[in-house]
Amino acid sequence: MTSSIKAEGAVHRVVVVGGGTAGWMTAAALARLVAPSGVQVVLVESEAIGTVGVGESTLPHIRAFNERLGIDEAEFMKATRATFKLGIQFNDWGRIGDSYIHPFGDYGAPGGEAPFHHYWLRARSLGDVGPLDDYSLPIVAAREGRFAPPAEDARSLLSTYGYAYQFDSTLYARFLRTFAEAHGVRRVEGRIVEVTQDGESGALSAVVLESGEAVEGDLFVDCSGFRALLIEQTLKSGFTDWSHWLPCDRAVAIPCASDQPAVPYTRATALEAGWQFRIPLQHRVGNGYVFASAFVDAEAATERLLGRLEGAPLKTPNTLRFTAGQRTRNWVGNCVSVGLSSGFIEPLESTSIHLIQIAITKLIELWPNAVADPTSAAEFNRQMDVEYARIRDFIILHYCATERDDTPFWDHVRIMRLPDSLAEKIDLFRARGAVQEYREGLFLHPSWIAVYLGQGIVPHHHHRLADAVPEEALLSSLARLRTAIRQSASRLPTQDAYIARYCASLDAG
Ligand SMILES: Cc1cc2nc3c(=O)[nH]c(=O)nc-3n(C[C@H](O)[C@H](O)[C@H](O)COP(=O)(O)OP(=O)(O)OC[C@H]3O[C@@H](n4cnc5c(N)ncnc54)[C@H](O)[C@@H]3O)c2cc1C
Repeated sequence: MTSSIKAEGAVHRVVVVGGGTAGWMTAAALARLVAPSGVQVVLVESEAIGTVGVGESTLPHIRAFNERLGIDEAEFMKATRATFKLGIQFNDWGRIGDSYIHPFGDYGAPGGEAPFHHYWLRARSLGDVGPLDDYSLPIVAAREGRFAPPAEDARSLLSTYGYAYQFDSTLYARFLRTFAEAHGVRRVEGRIVEVTQDGESGALSAVVLESGEAVEGDLFVDCSGFRALLIEQTLKSGFTDWSHWLPCDRAVAIPCASDQPAVPYTRATALEAGWQFRIPLQHRVGNGYVFASAFVDAEAATERLLGRLEGAPLKTPNTLRFTAGQRTRNWVGNCVSVGLSSGFIEPLESTSIHLIQIAITKLIELWPNAVADPTSAAEFNRQMDVEYARIRDFIILHYCATERDDTPFWDHVRIMRLPDSLAEKIDLFRARGAVQEYREGLFLHPSWIAVYLGQGIVPHHHHRLADAVPEEALLSSLARLRTAIRQSASRLPTQDAYIARYCASLDAG
């Protein structure tokens, strides 16, 4: 079916297709930020189809998203039964028995001529100075189960970190729905069975529901999840497949009960054919085994996960399929894909919700001047390509930086040919401990350093600047720093105590 829409007309009506995390984040942001300029926002979702139902661990940037929308943190945490997150613990990645935390914060204390890890590398060659983790306040606090928001005084050790959240994804979408509807978003329930396009320009003009109702729009945001209803099924954007670097293509997920205090970090434990996530919330723990179906079948993976649960399962296991990769163009004509419809690089490092946030931010920055705005589309696609490629390389690093040779899966990822962009980064770090600089995209230096050193990529040389400090002075200042970090961390409240005071969910029991 075709209908008419003027390509040069202004955008007055936005249709968001899908009501998962992507759909409701988009609708909430557009309602709060763009609707006041005279734009109407409609969201269409189907309860019968439902959402992917996972996606509970985030990156610190989400705080800026919530703040921009004017969302109160304590209220949001109560509603989503959220906990705080200071980083991700990686167990058994470089070698079985290894453990490190990728922190949301810096190593060392503020100041210093060379990046801190160069001093640590030098000191390590002089004596036993302990693991790099001992020099990160968020890591030490995370290990002790402690949390308080960072201090504002930039000279304080307590200012050296950020934090994110671990929350119930279904409750987050519900919370944003309430917010978005209060800001004028109209929600339409129903399954979309047809998408209409302008006969001449090919621009999308409406989505048609099973009931026959047509929801018309000028701009369409495809948040339909892996189905990619508009961007792929209708507009045939294409897909760039990265599964040769990222072979995990399935996940089995299941929440379980917990009688332990929730720790302020997510755990990723490497298993025989992938890895297991553990995300502690106020009322339960989210678990999953992300695995490569070429190396283990779903039944064996499910059994392995169930055997490792720390508490009683709260649902039946949910198996999901995906392919690591990105939509070839995230913005085609008058359709922008946000969320899983735009691609997925597997959940290690919790980047998917971040990519949703980034896409929304860029859509608002590059808001189209007309229904068809190829300039905005081209720039959006360029920027999203960079974002995806940065994350892709960082995730691949976790697999290739390993000595594990205990299963065919680890043999595969250990010796696979890497993207040139990642091979260059690793060579640079191995040679001189430097992290390749870039302006756009994740991740910051401490993240790369955490994974390089945590998984056994040790530089041949530390920076010459780190030689400026006499040996004795270096060793004693590191000992003092370790003590100061330990003491500062131990003065923080436990996360449980902080949550109880600040944002305990009434029914989190
Ligand atoms: C195992 C796993 C673990 C993950 N863990 C994390 C994590 O820890 N952190 C993180 O950041 N991300 C994580 N993710 C990704 C995260 O789950 C998603 O980015 C997030 O949930 C957004 O999904 P979505 O809204 O794009 O899609 P969905 O949740 O699938 O929503 C799609 C929506 O489209 C609607 N829809 C589809 N077709 C139609 C139709 N025909 N008519 C009407 N409506 C339709 C559906 O009803 C639904 O409302 C994980 C993903 C997986 C697979």
